[in-house]
Amino acid sequence: IPATSVPKVKSPVLIAGATGFIGHFVADACLASGRPTYVLVRSTPTCPSKAKVLRSLEEKGAKVLHGLINQKEKMEKILKEHKIEIVISAVGGEKILDQLPLVEAIKAVGTVKRFLPSEFGHDVNRTEPVEPGLRMYIEKRKVRDLIEEYGIPFTYICCNSIASWPYFDNTHPSEVHPPLDKFQIYGDGNVKAYFVAGTDIGKFTMKIVDDVRTLNKSVHFRPPCNFYNINELAALWEKKIGRTLPRSTITEEDLLAAAAENRIPESVVASFTHDIFIKGCQINFSIDGPNDVEVCSLYPDEAFRTLDDCFEEFFLRLNEKHVSSRDENAPPNPVVEPLIVTATCA
Ligand code: NDP
Repeated sequence: IPATSVPKVKSPVLIAGATGFIGHFVADACLASGRPTYVLVRSTPTCPSKAKVLRSLEEKGAKVLHGLINQKEKMEKILKEHKIEIVISAVGGEKILDQLPLVEAIKAVGTVKRFLPSEFGHDVNRTEPVEPGLRMYIEKRKVRDLIEEYGIPFTYICCNSIASWPYFDNTHPSEVHPPLDKFQIYGDGNVKAYFVAGTDIGKFTMKIVDDVRTLNKSVHFRPPCNFYNINELAALWEKKIGRTLPRSTITEEDLLAAAAENRIPESVVASFTHDIFIKGCQINFSIDGPNDVEVCSLYPDEAFRTLDDCFEEFFLRLNEKHVSSRDENAPPNPVVEPLIVTATCA
């Protein structure tokens, strides 16, 4: 596929959810791409980590606008006033339907050239996780349906898993290092998945956003260098820390039971973990349909950050904290930090 020419004048971009986990990567990449970048924030963050993210985005040149995506008139005003041509939403899983008024506003102004709704995971039309994960997919499908009914130009980013140890009860696992005491292996540990660094989710999203080849398509992230099963992931981490760890099995039944507890967000993550590592939801369909495109085929000269590199960074960070070392005399069970469930302050 021939590469497209870069537009001369860069389209102004509005990002909703830029202080969130995925949105921050996207906003950083948007600013790095030199596009005029507007970030929509609900109110001045009271949470110190979100306030810090917002400050750093502003320092890099982001313009902050206040508003909620579920305020249709306000969104119309913002889109018109700032001549926004690209809208990217990265609102969290519990706010997916907040996007419906935003879709209405985009339809009303009629000048947005591309809308990327909050997807950033699996192709929600092609997999059916158990509840409570299914609820989020049904909501993402409703947003897709409205976009397509209104004929709004769109792209769906199906970037698969974030590069990290996929803890089954953690929505943002890349914020936590892989285990230091024991591995919990899902099923037989042989089902493969794709892992993508957050910075690459941002970087490739910003390439995709005005590429004519991605108009009205689902873009699937399947980098061959980051295609691992859990057993391979465990072996990779053991190589980094220089020792082996015991393994225990989390069975399909265990994951289904964790999902059935209906604790939000942990049970949502359990249902996705089941879908990925038991059912193989990332790999059990082909992407050669007319509405699919694979990111590596679009940008064959752009490297993906490897999972090996991401694990090396986790290891280096651990060393900085003196939690572990490659030293063979290191204690067999070093301190394990408490698991952070989400990065939010709420
Ligand atoms: P977060 O919960 O971390 O962040 C959500 C952001 O959206 C926050 O900045 C929040 O603002 C903002 N927001 C929420 N509601 C509104 C609203 N009505 N108007 C304006 N802004 C709003 O989200 P995640 O990064 O976890 O999730 C984003 C997407 O990425 C989801 O679709 C999720 O499914 C997906 N995801 C994919 C992962 C993967 O491994 N592939 C991992 C995690 C998420 P405020 O600061 O005010 O709360």
